Amino acid sequence: MFANGQGRYMQNWPLTVDKFIDHAARWHGEEEIVSRSPDGKILRTNWAALHQQAKRISDALLAEGIGPGDRVGTMAMNGANHLAAWFAIMGIGAICHTLNPRLSPLQLNFIVEQAGDALILADKEFELIVSGLADSHRTIRRVVWLDSDCRDGLNAFISGFAGEAAWGEFDENSPAGLCYTSGTTGDPKGVLYTHRSNYLHTMMVLQPDVFGLKAMDCCMPVVPMFHANGWGLVFAAAAVGAKLVLPGRKVDGRSLVPLLCDENVTISAGVPTVWQDVINEIEQASIELPALQRVLVGGAACPPSLFQAFNNHGVNVSNAWGMTETSPLGTAVAPTRQTHGTGLDARLDQGRAPMGVDVRIVDEDGRSLPHDGETVGFLQVRGHSVVETYFRDQERATGSDGFFDTGDVATIDVFGSVRLTDRAKDVIKSGGEWISSVSLENVALTHPAVERAAVIAMPHAKWGERPLMLVQEVTGQSASSGELRELLAARFAKWELPDAIVSVKSVPLGATGKIDKKVLRARFDEMGLEGLGTLKV
Ligand code: AMP
Repeated sequence: MFANGQGRYMQNWPLTVDKFIDHAARWHGEEEIVSRSPDGKILRTNWAALHQQAKRISDALLAEGIGPGDRVGTMAMNGANHLAAWFAIMGIGAICHTLNPRLSPLQLNFIVEQAGDALILADKEFELIVSGLADSHRTIRRVVWLDSDCRDGLNAFISGFAGEAAWGEFDENSPAGLCYTSGTTGDPKGVLYTHRSNYLHTMMVLQPDVFGLKAMDCCMPVVPMFHANGWGLVFAAAAVGAKLVLPGRKVDGRSLVPLLCDENVTISAGVPTVWQDVINEIEQASIELPALQRVLVGGAACPPSLFQAFNNHGVNVSNAWGMTETSPLGTAVAPTRQTHGTGLDARLDQGRAPMGVDVRIVDEDGRSLPHDGETVGFLQVRGHSVVETYFRDQERATGSDGFFDTGDVATIDVFGSVRLTDRAKDVIKSGGEWISSVSLENVALTHPAVERAAVIAMPHAKWGERPLMLVQEVTGQSASSGELRELLAARFAKWELPDAIVSVKSVPLGATGKIDKKVLRARFDEMGLEGLGTLKV
């Protein structure tokens, strides 16, 4: 029996993401949101105006018959109209399905077919891809261009609507967003985030030991909003009312540095290849970035050389590990009172699990392994923002005890610090021992002439597999295989050294800006290590 006669003592305030933008509009309404359009124009709006724009999009979606649980696709770069579309779709209980324009037509067709998107909101620059999808999928009733003024554009879509749609007020476990894994093996898989998982993920990334965003920050997410829930950064920025800079399509160093400077960006986030390009640009052009305090690096291992380079410019690097299936944050690097100042601050590891995530390593039979910083095992996670079942999949993605197998291979030390040694599929098993491709790549990257390095496993008659290192040199510079071998020999046992080091014109990147080892393996597999002697690449 409850004293208040209503059946509960505390208010039931559903954890839905519309609360973030309501908060931003109400208390930080004047704070800016800056976007760069494809033609390079800088567009400025603020949280109050974005809120109003999103409400009008919600009105228009409702008028189109979109309702709770319907999938609405977006194919767009980071920009204010894309952001308004996110909140508009999620606010009315529909599902915002972010489509990655860099995926192959085969993958996109599979994804749209499975998701059954009812409507697509897209940047006009993706007209070719989106029109192709709309022609071949009958579920898509309409395509609206997020570019404001063009034909069938956003202004026409929302014209006549006052922005009266009601948001939220549904179960916090309702789905909010759908994001597919990049599908490097097999078909892509859909991860269906709920309002509750996104809300709690936002609270988690706002912890000071994680991303720690504040109202004083100016945040520039370079990581695309279509990749891994955009690392949750736009929710976090709204939740604290930070200034937001959305860089649009061009994310090379030359395009990003002016935004970092002119907008006084304090915190920015992206994959290591993006940051390498920014470092090259600021060093070549002798530019300093006095406002920039922190870059968040994730999606792939942060090479020590990159970490050092940013430190030399007075910028802190925060390394974080995660994946689409973990919304995406899993672990983040932050010292503790026990590790600080002891030399144990393994700043280049993947970091510790914050409250909300639990991690462990297991052997091939699923038995827990010790957290001694040495034993290598398969990394598993569970938590409030970790996948349980993939979209439209009958089987649970987790084991009976609720842990999700990440496909990563790692050690965990006594402080809970995770060190990834490989993706399970990238691991090199030579004579029964594991060789870490990541560690070899990181050392190769300390050579000033090495732009990118990738180590892949080559089949070997005697040892099962042996490492092959592929290196892309900085334009106009060269790194001989002798120099690289010497560099590596100082750090690794003889049996861990690559059997061959080959210079290639380009080490390819996949759809999310990470090195695509699948392409490299396909290219070099047939040749075999013996064939490399005569190779000209
Ligand atoms: P995705 O779902 O496309 O974001 O890919 C997730 C995968 O990227 C993880 O399983 C890791 O293999 C890799 N990854 C993400 N963050 C890091 C990191 N900080 N260091 C090393 N690898 C990472």
